[in-house]
Amino acid sequence: MNEQFSILKTDAEVRTRLKELAADISKDFQHIQPDNPLLVLCTLRGAVFFAADLVRALSIPCEINFIKVKSYQGTRPVGSPIFELGEQIDVKGREVLIIEDIVDTGQTMDTVIKNFNDKGAVSIRIATMLDKPSRRYPHLRATILPDYIGFSIEDYFVVGWGLDYNEDYRLLPDIMIYHPDAET
Ligand code: 5GP
Ligand code: MG
Repeated sequence: MNEQFSILKTDAEVRTRLKELAADISKDFQHIQPDNPLLVLCTLRGAVFFAADLVRALSIPCEINFIKVKSYQGTRPVGSPIFELGEQIDVKGREVLIIEDIVDTGQTMDTVIKNFNDKGAVSIRIATMLDKPSRRYPHLRATILPDYIGFSIEDYFVVGWGLDYNEDYRLLPDIMIYHPDAET
């Protein structure tokens, strides 16, 4: 590993925190019954590992499905996020937990929540591995507040634990700060 990366959270720290979040979520949703399980919507692709470990640590009935929203190119947001998968998932009468890798400007979660709110979900909560509150668009500061946050971080561009930079570095075990300027 060269000097363009530095560790922000170790794999062990992520796994410990993930167990705590799973306990909080299981407690908050203990009323959930098997005939109407918690509908977990994992955002592709960054949240896949976090969601897989998180749902398996839950002690409540849940069903998992996947959504994909395009919002980033390299280290820059791409304007309005676009649904690429899962827009039509039936959430009517369901309690929904969206699992996200990182909430940044908030526009992706805003798009997702608006879509599913309009389709009759009973409740929609967000669990995110990372939150960058200082990056939130001002008009979303009061509305996009994730319910379960692994770690709240400063304004770094991070990779690893599922997060990529143009499809690289997803499989790094630790969450690393990536400094593209240090590239040679
Ligand atoms: P938002 O719509 O909140 O600005 O961005 C959400 C999406 O942008 C995240 O789901 C993630 O895919 C991507 N993103 C935001 N910040 C970072 C980051 O620091 N690293 C990586 N790899 N992706 C990020
Ligand atoms: Mg994402």
